[in-house]
Amino acid sequence: MNMSHEFAGAFHELTLLAEDFVRGPYRQQRESVPEQAAQQSPEPFVAAHTAVVGDRSEARRLLEQEILACSLCPLSGGRTQAVPGVGVLDPLVMVIGEGPGAEEDRLGAPFVGPAGRYLDDWLRAIELSREANVYITNVVKCRPPGNRDPEPAEIQACRPYLERQIELVRPRVILAAGRVAAQFLTSSELGIGKLRGREHRCYGLPMVATYHPSGVLRNPDWRRPVWEDLKLLRSILDR
Ligand code: SF4
Repeated sequence: MNMSHEFAGAFHELTLLAEDFVRGPYRQQRESVPEQAAQQSPEPFVAAHTAVVGDRSEARRLLEQEILACSLCPLSGGRTQAVPGVGVLDPLVMVIGEGPGAEEDRLGAPFVGPAGRYLDDWLRAIELSREANVYITNVVKCRPPGNRDPEPAEIQACRPYLERQIELVRPRVILAAGRVAAQFLTSSELGIGKLRGREHRCYGLPMVATYHPSGVLRNPDWRRPVWEDLKLLRSILDR
């Protein structure tokens, strides 16, 4: 490798370090730089890197617009607005809950209100945050009436949106919050008490299931198992 190649590699590494510094305390996992790209001059390489992330940001924006206009299932009839999701691309963790509640439906963001603030506490305890290195969404994007569980047909109608989000966002690990998300993501009918506490594979990614924050607020006995699940999640990220 000649001097210009070395400079290209060093410049690229510097941009990634700066990006990681802004986004959070941990280095982001990335695919290795193709040798051909690394051998180009720094300016075209950086431009190409920015274009790829830019393309995915645009694709995510278009997907969110599609979700906001969706009427594929009856849940569209009772919503104030659909709630696509929030967070960063290439997150360390993608949190997946079951569906928007009343506050989420009103504000258009997932996990807001007391359960959302509690989830933020959980994330902070393992050095994560929705602003820096997490993406948060739900299995269904529209509020089920009376906060009932989403019906299987509603989950199936909404499933392609979640799958496209996972593909676009590219998390390292998935955290399923609550029974509905855990059962859907593991294709299992086991209760959350049996699905939590171990690592699963989901869409080719490591996945941990735990109780839903709103359930833990009602049942303090679940705090300890949640902490065990969060430690498991952190250990997967750190390995
Ligand atoms: S829940 Fe999903 S499939 Fe149903 S209307 Fe909302 S976005 Fe569309």
